[in-house]
Amino acid sequence: MRLIDSHCHIDFPQFESRRQELLEQASLSGVDEIVVPGVTEKHWGRLLDCVSHHAGLHAALGLHPCFLDQHQPEDLKRLARLLETQTVCAVGEIGLDLFIPDADLDAQLFYLDQQLALAKQFDLPVLLHVRKAHDQMLQRLRRVKLQAGGVVHAFSGSKHQAMQYVDLGFKLGIGGTITYERAKKLRSIVSEMDLADLILETDAPDMPLSGYRDEINQPARVREVAEMVAQLKRCSVEQVARITTAQAVALFHSIS
Ligand SMILES: [Zn+2]
Repeated sequence: MRLIDSHCHIDFPQFESRRQELLEQASLSGVDEIVVPGVTEKHWGRLLDCVSHHAGLHAALGLHPCFLDQHQPEDLKRLARLLETQTVCAVGEIGLDLFIPDADLDAQLFYLDQQLALAKQFDLPVLLHVRKAHDQMLQRLRRVKLQAGGVVHAFSGSKHQAMQYVDLGFKLGIGGTITYERAKKLRSIVSEMDLADLILETDAPDMPLSGYRDEINQPARVREVAEMVAQLKRCSVEQVARITTAQAVALFHSIS
């Protein structure tokens, strides 16, 4: 069974001493390919270095909306240079977060719009982080029309919003949240969506799965996310793996 973790921060310092071991465990669970999203300009170098030292890791670069205080407009120029010169599979993670206290929507929109334009220019998919701002994001995506599409990571919207993303060529990123019984809305959306509209992820080290709440999350757990999706879709885990992996391969050109 071949699985892909489409969103895992394996470059983070929490993994420093155990990275190789966790990648081997992931491989034993069928997870040989991992997309590693960027968060701030300061750490893009660390991310590119990490990806170059391990097989199966794929870099995405972006400025995350929750770290606005660390972004500067010059970072966008460096991003454009790196997208031109490095092997990067997506622009991300980028987005809108109106859940964080004192969210500055205008500043978030400034970085989002510039990065959506870069994704369009380089014909790359985007990894979107969106909380409490799906309608604003959908409005943006309708305007910019990204041919390469992308993933709405850790999808948290409504069924209606899910359908609108799919119509725009986006996939829903499904992770550990789905393993919690209280995630009733998300579970019902997943059970009704087409498997081809879903992509699997962990967001490790964040978003631990049910049953592992005191541990940092790790890429091997994509396997358990796949098992939960299979249960909801009443199909085999092999089928979930086959279809979601095919979607990830089609989306991220550096994964074959
Ligand atoms: Zn993330």
